[in-house]
Parts: sequence; C-alpha cells; structure tokens
Amino acid sequence: MAVNYKEELVGVFGYPVAENPTCVMQNAAFAAAGLFWRYLTIEVKPEDLPTAMQGLRALGFRGINCTIPHKVAVIPLLDEVAPDAKLIGAVNTIRRVGDKLIGENTDGKGFMRGLREQLDPAGKRVVILGAGGAARAITVELALAGASELIVVNRSHERGAGLVAHLQTAVKANARLVDWTSTYAVGGDVDVLVNATSIGLYPDVDAMPDVRLDGARGDLLVCDVIPNPPNTPLIKLAQGRGLRTINGLAMLVYQGSIGFEMWTGVQADEGVMKAALEKEFGV
Ligand code: NDP
Repeated sequence: MAVNYKEELVGVFGYPVAENPTCVMQNAAFAAAGLFWRYLTIEVKPEDLPTAMQGLRALGFRGINCTIPHKVAVIPLLDEVAPDAKLIGAVNTIRRVGDKLIGENTDGKGFMRGLREQLDPAGKRVVILGAGGAARAITVELALAGASELIVVNRSHERGAGLVAHLQTAVKANARLVDWTSTYAVGGDVDVLVNATSIGLYPDVDAMPDVRLDGARGDLLVCDVIPNPPNTPLIKLAQGRGLRTINGLAMLVYQGSIGFEMWTGVQADEGVMKAALEKEFGV
C-alpha cells in the first residue's frame, strides 16, 4: 500500500503567540485521527498580516486560526465571512476552499456547544461579565439562540454600551448594560452567569470577578471562559455553593473541534483534545 507523505498544514496567526496550547491540542487530534496534518504557531506582526495571508495561499495551508490582534483586521483580507462571524465582527478560524479564504467564528459556537450540554439557552436570562471579544462572540450566539435577556456587566461604560447597542441593533436582542462599579449581586431571576473577562487567567490565578452568588437560584449555571487554570476562583465558589459549572476548557476544546471538522471534514476526538490541554495546563 502506498503511503501519502504530503503533509497538510494549518496553523495560528497571532502576535505574539509564543505559548499557544491550541497547537498541542490540534496536533494531538490530527495524530488521533491518523491524519498527516500539522498545526503550526506563526508569529505575524500586524503590519505583515496582508502578506502573511497571501503566503497562506502560496504555501498551500488548508486554514488557520487567528488570535489577538488579528481577529478583526483579517476580515477585509478574506473572500467570504460566515453570517454569524459577520454579526460578531471577528474571525478566529479561516478555512480554504479552493483558492477562497472563508472566515468563521468558532469561539461563540464552542461556548454554545458546552452550554447546550447543560441547558437550552432559549428563553433564558443570562448575565455576562465583560464586553470584549469573547463576550461579543458569546452574546451574539446567545441572542441567535433565543436567550430572553442579556445583561452585560462591564467595567468600562463605553465598551459595555457599545456591545449592548450592537446586540440591540444587529441581532435585535433584549440587552441592557450594568456598569460594574461595585460588587454585582446575581439575582434569583438569572439562569446563567458567564465570566467572559480575563479575570483569573494565568498568572493572576487568585483573581476573582467582583460578584456575589448568595442571592442566586440553586439551579444557576455558572460558566467561565478562562481555560488556564480551568478551576478558577469563580468556578470553585460556584461549586462550593452546589451550583452547576462549565469551565473554560470546554469552550477551548469545542471551538477547536469545530475548527478541526471545518478543515478536515473528519470528526475530532474531543477526549484526546481535552487530555492534551489538561496535560499542557498541568491539571
Ligand atoms: P478583551 O481584552 O477583548 O476583553 C477583556 C474584558 O475583560 C473586557 O470587558 C474588560 O473590561 C474585562 N476585564 C479585564 N480585566 C478586568 C478587571 N480587572 N475587572 C473588570 N473587568 C475586567 O479579551 P477577550 O474578550 O478576547 O478575552 C477574554 C478572556 O476570554 C481571555 O482571558 C481569554 O483567554 C478568554 N477566551 C477563552 C476562550 C476559550 O476558548 N476558553 C476563547 C476566547 C477567549 P473593560 O472593557 O473595562 O476593559
């Protein structure tokens, strides 16, 4: 039997991207699927992005992930952008179909896959801490999934108001802003709490969003986007109160497996991906 030694390439463009756990996770998934594919971490300066995107075609890459600071800047360099990525206004995954580069956003989709394992977001009232890129992807997907109310709690008024206005106009969401100027007490009418800030991310592992859960319902679902470490102080507080939780590993694995499937057409082994990340994060 002949062996196909032609290697297919995908990767991540970011700046800087010295430590990217996605690389370890995707390469583990390729090996598990028996695919002769390789995922590379490539540092691309903002001013070099247009040339790098041309290089992607020239080098025959099958796709890439885009991370900070390229998620928005890459959009004009693409041939097509998926409808939800357009609404989010950011692209984290690009797939090549022939010579066409198609932009997708799997961050929000990855979050939703984890969420749907616990509940159907339709008709649910959701509090989101943060108004950055992760919050934007998650809230747009929640609105498209029929969440009844989105309460954005953010430190900077301007950024929070910008996200709420976008949700109201672009996806006709019932959204409102709470300025995060003091401890936010999660009320008994909230179904889901999402930390979409960077609070708790390594190395600030003891940092905790300024929230209180003592007024929350017993069936509140608490989600954190922080993947490293997965057991953030917020997740621990919620678990200590007997609440259901979803940590940031779920979102990271699922956004990656959705991208893997877009590139390869093959179902990803999510168990292998999760194990690779846990090893990387020392969990
Ligand atoms: P951004 O920089 O775009 O946004 C950060 C948000 O966090 C802003 O709303 C900011 O508020 C808020 N914030 C940061 N520090 C504080 C603080 N001390 N107090 C209050 N608010 C604070 O980042 P992203 O949205 O791109 O990423 C956020 C997190 O999501 C990161 O930690 C990232 O690792 C994680 N992430 C996880 C993914 C996964 O797959 N698990 C995927 C994508 C992201 P303000 O507007 O006031 O500055």
